[in-house]
Amino acid sequence: MPARHFVDHVVMLVEGGCGGDGCVSFHREKFVAFGPPAGGNGGAGGSVYIRADPTLHSLARTTRRAVAKDGLPGQGAWLHGKSGQDVTIHVPVGTTVRALGRVTSTREAACSDYFSYLFSKRHKRSTEIDPEEEPELSASRSAVWRHFPRFEDDNYERSHFFAAEEKLKSELRAQRRIAKSMPHAERSAASLTQRIDDVTRASEHWQQDAGWSVDLARATPPDSPGILLASGGNGGLGNPHFALEKYRSPKVALRGGAGESLLVSLEYKQPSDIGLVGLPNAGKSTLLRCLSRADAQVGSWSFTTLRPNLGVLRMNDDGQLTDRDAPETSRLILADMPGLIADASQNKGLGHDFLRHIERCGMLVYVVDLSGPPGSPTEAILTLNRELDAYRPGLTDRVGLVVANKADLLGAEGPEAAADAQAMLARLRSDVDMLFGYGRVPVVPVSAKHKQNVHTVAAHLQRLVRTADE
Ligand code: GDP
Ligand code: MG
Repeated sequence: MPARHFVDHVVMLVEGGCGGDGCVSFHREKFVAFGPPAGGNGGAGGSVYIRADPTLHSLARTTRRAVAKDGLPGQGAWLHGKSGQDVTIHVPVGTTVRALGRVTSTREAACSDYFSYLFSKRHKRSTEIDPEEEPELSASRSAVWRHFPRFEDDNYERSHFFAAEEKLKSELRAQRRIAKSMPHAERSAASLTQRIDDVTRASEHWQQDAGWSVDLARATPPDSPGILLASGGNGGLGNPHFALEKYRSPKVALRGGAGESLLVSLEYKQPSDIGLVGLPNAGKSTLLRCLSRADAQVGSWSFTTLRPNLGVLRMNDDGQLTDRDAPETSRLILADMPGLIADASQNKGLGHDFLRHIERCGMLVYVVDLSGPPGSPTEAILTLNRELDAYRPGLTDRVGLVVANKADLLGAEGPEAAADAQAMLARLRSDVDMLFGYGRVPVVPVSAKHKQNVHTVAAHLQRLVRTADE
């Protein structure tokens, strides 16, 4: 099984589908000379929803782009276009969604240009418009209107077009009034062409300074579509909509509205209880692997672990590690922190990303390599302390255990070497007492590779979690 990678931060583009265009057509039947307008409405564009799914535990499978389907155009004989399919993004419970900004498509920009023209004093009969005066108008106008084949130029010469514009204007005005009565949040995201329905909108979570952000702290109920992130564009209205008492054969229809596009950031807060922190090659992955069922990558180069691996440590009441099938009474979640390098807090190397993972752990365990030159474990601890404190003062308070790894490499050459090893360990213990307070942080020598003394580590971890709970 490949190592399961832990992805906790994804920036993604969500796009609602465009609405289908309304159709301009007239009913055709034998012996009926001028049939009534019969263009169907376009279907609405699909929307993008997000759901919190309790079966997921990472954002690894979240795509970087979610695009809902466009609505289909309306057709003759009053056939309305089908609505575009919605897209649902599934994320683990505990994900925070934050809007980074709206993305405006050329189409959307053209539509809003036209609408602002429509509501301005500049708006007049198309026959009276001087193209010099409104150079952009024809492009933005054709983003909104559709014409009967070959009727575009002709339409603008007719007063019916002006009447249709006036009709659209008064309808949009009514929509705007509804929008105005909505809270600020709603309004800021609601565009004129947006549907107004009663699903939960992400924009309801608007904060004055930071845009909106939603904490998906609980699983989305099965009967809810989720939270609406980006709504699809409205379907355009077919030409029957523009039939008036005076003008019975409208040669125009509305095009579909553009869907909303948003850039959102998804951040997943993994409920890791204990984080293993250490310099590269200290043996964190090895330790994690023998403590738990996690399939961590092990290698002897720096930055072996580019993302934290997660492992679940199962224990029974006596603090003994149990098999996967044996009943467990408690669980510890371990996150193997990617190797820290000196100056990670200055965001060198893979800096801040790593430290952010560490910040999420309620408890930290230092893993140091005993096999280096004398004094090097203490130096490693000082480096780790410095990095954590530089990133966030107080993080080192969470350190509850020092695992002195690779003990198998010490003292094998004879009694003298064994005495040296003892002295080294004693020195490390007194250094740790000095750094963290007397007797507060135990030092446990282990050999992760040979699974020696690993149970002691497990028992300490369980004790740490218990004290943290109390
Ligand atoms: P990480 O970078 O902290 O995750 O370190 P790894 O777990 O990838 O281990 C780095 C290297 O140290 C690997 O080659 C391991 O085989 C080796 N190693 C880990 N633990 C021990 C140990 O207890 N004894 C010995 N001799 N080697 C170990
Ligand atoms: Mg590793």
